[in-house]
Amino acid sequence: MLDEATVEQFRVSLRGELIRSEDDGYDEARKAYNAMIDKHPRMIARCADIADVISSVNFARENDIILAIRGGGHSAPGLGLVDDGLVIDLSPMRGVRVDPQARTVRVEGGATLGDVDHAAHAFGLAVPAGIVSTTGIGGLTLGGGQGYLTRKYGLSIDNLLEADLVLADGSLVKASEDEHEELFWAIRGGGGNFGVVTSFLFRAHPVHTVYAGPTLWHIEQAEEVLRWYQQFIPQASEDLSGLFAFLVVPPGPPFPEHLHGKTMCGVVWCYAGPLEEAEEAFRPIRQFSPPALDLAGPMPLPTLNSLFDPLVPPGLQQYWTGDFFNELSEEAIALHVKYGEKTPTMLSTTLFFPIDGAVQRVGKNETAFSYREATWSATINGVDPDPANNERIISWTREYFDALHPYSAGGAYVNFMMDEGQDRIKATYRDNFERLVAIKNEYDPDNHFRINQNIRPTATV
Ligand SMILES: Cc1cc2nc3c(=O)[nH]c(=O)nc-3n(C[C@H](O)[C@H](O)[C@H](O)COP(=O)(O)OP(=O)(O)OC[C@H]3O[C@@H](n4cnc5c(N)ncnc54)[C@H](O)[C@@H]3O)c2cc1C
Repeated sequence: MLDEATVEQFRVSLRGELIRSEDDGYDEARKAYNAMIDKHPRMIARCADIADVISSVNFARENDIILAIRGGGHSAPGLGLVDDGLVIDLSPMRGVRVDPQARTVRVEGGATLGDVDHAAHAFGLAVPAGIVSTTGIGGLTLGGGQGYLTRKYGLSIDNLLEADLVLADGSLVKASEDEHEELFWAIRGGGGNFGVVTSFLFRAHPVHTVYAGPTLWHIEQAEEVLRWYQQFIPQASEDLSGLFAFLVVPPGPPFPEHLHGKTMCGVVWCYAGPLEEAEEAFRPIRQFSPPALDLAGPMPLPTLNSLFDPLVPPGLQQYWTGDFFNELSEEAIALHVKYGEKTPTMLSTTLFFPIDGAVQRVGKNETAFSYREATWSATINGVDPDPANNERIISWTREYFDALHPYSAGGAYVNFMMDEGQDRIKATYRDNFERLVAIKNEYDPDNHFRINQNIRPTATV
């Protein structure tokens, strides 16, 4: 049992707020992005700075309290929260500092992708990350980080130069190619298993205005589109990327009324090469089969990266899973179309992220992220505002996954998984798994950081 004096001592040690179950704002503070998650932490420490993070890690360890780290809070299985434990909530730590000369961006551990885009765009720079601006840079980066710029510039981790972490013993270290090299290897794909990242230093790239947006085709053409897409992307210039999607057209602008509510397939494109060459790059796309809707055009990168924000606010029911695919065989394409046609609700979707190009120029053992030879990282998302539809969205996602998994490369992107067990985690890290365990043994032998896709240290297995 914790006595009040100990908690009070902890509370006054913080610059940020300590929120307990009896406090106003507790229910708001414990909300996950995914409304399917309903966890009741014992307390939430809104950390204002590194000192607060150190205090929180020490308090949890000394008082034997389980802890969770919350970055942007987007984890579908709710891994930023924990029942009856302490949440280290990094949401007040969202500072971003751009060095335009060095083309680097330092980002605090609780920042969102929108924070990073906003700061970097002012200098005509971008850090490769994801496709929704409210996602946390913390969880996204530590799992890998896939998005529109992946083919050209690699995963977010391929652009990570260093990170500051508070370790389980409360010490602060820098991990980079020259310091704590094994730790640096592990955090590039190994998730939040090794410590609380208080800041990341990224390499940035000169990307300002891209030629981007969705092109949609009728669902009857889905097999033909998928067949073409999987041939087209790998041979296309790395300036171009496109996420294939099954979707139900939202009932509002910019979508024309006659398409509202229709299940369709499409590709969300991003061309990050010279703008004057964009139309030419899009010629084969438009020639392949004139799309039923073509919304592609020039836009600032942050606009593209927040295009889908209104469709995915916090508070929706979300059930996700995913797999890597090396190729899409005829049988796999037919199955994707079978389930894509049955997309159960307006907000449910399937997305293919191309992860070839620059990702494949890094070896599969050079970072913890293993599936460097995969061409696609697919995610199936059952989503709806109404909990009454949970069974529908969960069973569609599971059945879709079960049907396609035999055609997959074996593992999945950790950031697209629910809580799917140790075998899935091992399948995802493959021959990097044992090295991750060894690093976990060194940096967190008691598994203080275990609310994540957990690499269990040997002593706790
Ligand atoms: C709408 C939506 C869109 C998405 N789009 C993409 C996309 O385009 N590309 C992509 O790659 N992924 C995408 N994802 C998946 C996303 O990468 C994961 O959900 C990721 O876990 C989100 O990180 P977070 O910090 O927001 O989450 P949180 O729930 O806060 O944390 C997730 C995990 O990361 C750990 N963690 C977070 N921050 C830190 C930190 N600073 N130090 C240590 N551990 C930390 C947490 O402990 C937890 O285990 C998307 C998710 C959603 C919901």
